[in-house]
Amino acid sequence: MTVSTLPILPTSVVGSYAIPAWLWAAWEKIEAGGFGAMDVAETENDAVAIAVRDQEHAGLDLISDGEMRRQGFIVSIFKYFHGLRPIEPRRKVGVLSYDGHVFYEPVERLSAPAGLGTLKELDHLRQVTTRPFKITLPGPLTLATQITKGGPYRDRAEIAADLATLINHELKALAARGARNLQLDDVYQSFIMEPKRLAELYDRCFEGVLVSRRFWHICFGTLEGFGFGERTYRPLFPTIASASADQLVFEFANREMAESELWREFDCPKELGAGVLDLKNFYVESPELVARRIRRMLESVPAEKLWINPDCGLARLPRHLAFAKLQALVTGTRKVREELIGRADT
Ligand SMILES: [Zn+2]
Repeated sequence: MTVSTLPILPTSVVGSYAIPAWLWAAWEKIEAGGFGAMDVAETENDAVAIAVRDQEHAGLDLISDGEMRRQGFIVSIFKYFHGLRPIEPRRKVGVLSYDGHVFYEPVERLSAPAGLGTLKELDHLRQVTTRPFKITLPGPLTLATQITKGGPYRDRAEIAADLATLINHELKALAARGARNLQLDDVYQSFIMEPKRLAELYDRCFEGVLVSRRFWHICFGTLEGFGFGERTYRPLFPTIASASADQLVFEFANREMAESELWREFDCPKELGAGVLDLKNFYVESPELVARRIRRMLESVPAEKLWINPDCGLARLPRHLAFAKLQALVTGTRKVREELIGRADT
């Protein structure tokens, strides 16, 4: 199936997939130096095979590699940057959350001489699936929130600008190698990110990048089930509509579909990838509930602009739950597709 033959209401994921039990165990051994480079590559390839197979079996139209090589949404990206010194987490005991991460301090101008690791993801995905897929990367401002000012940088805005240039190089390389669908992920924290600035940085990342679809996932964070900031997209409108993204990928299910009216209210020209799986909820949605959520979105978003996905990445769910939720997503979407087609026929 090519992108041009996608059905109405295409189904997709945000990016990460659930980590298999054995991979958690393997990571412990890898961190302890117990695996060689070939062992690591084999382990990562096996993990991608599982993520791809689960997504294909669930019936998704556009998949990812599950971000199986990343070990966390943004943590592993930092190993590609030169010019940063890690700072010990300020809190190491108790519940893991946003204050328990390693931060970084610049010691020189940032660079990424070997790229950001996504080209091998692209090359491998092509070998293991015939479905269309997307490659994802964290956005520059989101990465910059993990970095303190220092070295040649006076503030985070300067750091984010350099990160945008490095991400731009990576996206250009992916596009040149034939990637069709590229996505940036941002955790929206309205108190530090002005919408205009956020959009400018996104545009800078995609400057000169020619692909079929530019996705932009913006969520409110989901680390161990915690968000970060007020969970509203309203401040992003109408600014966000002028960014170069083709599709905005937003979370709705865990907010009980709040703000589904924004597309109609602002006559937003973008496609919407609507989150209809609540990942902060340890239950499996019924296909009927998924269908109800999609119908709610259709009150505001034209069917030809609407895609269906989970609220966020699935990495923090046990695999059985992630897979069952994806099955419900696909079955619920098919119900609504049939209704739409039936309506068109009468
Ligand atoms: Zn997210």
